[in-house]
Amino acid sequence: MPIYEYAPLGPGCEHCANGLEVLAKISDPELQACPHCGGEVQMRISAPNVVAGTAHIMKESHYSERGFTQYRKVEKGVYEKAGGKGPRYISDDGK
Ligand SMILES: [Zn+2]
Repeated sequence: MPIYEYAPLGPGCEHCANGLEVLAKISDPELQACPHCGGEVQMRISAPNVVAGTAHIMKESHYSERGFTQYRKVEKGVYEKAGGKGPRYISDDGK
């Protein structure tokens, strides 16, 4: 499981002031507040350290929330959208 690091947006408490490390599954919702003081926190690193091979498999919502669009290759030079807000298909041959 990846470890997500959060930093408090406010002064924080003794648990989160210097950063909060949370071990979480990819499918777990992003932490919004420190579980100790309830203060608002923000994820510090955008790309969690995930075991190779699963790093590119992220939930669609995960991408949409951040405005990213994920594509998967369907044939040579053609990519189909797998998640996010971008165009349905993209191709690199100008079609
Ligand atoms: Zn806190």
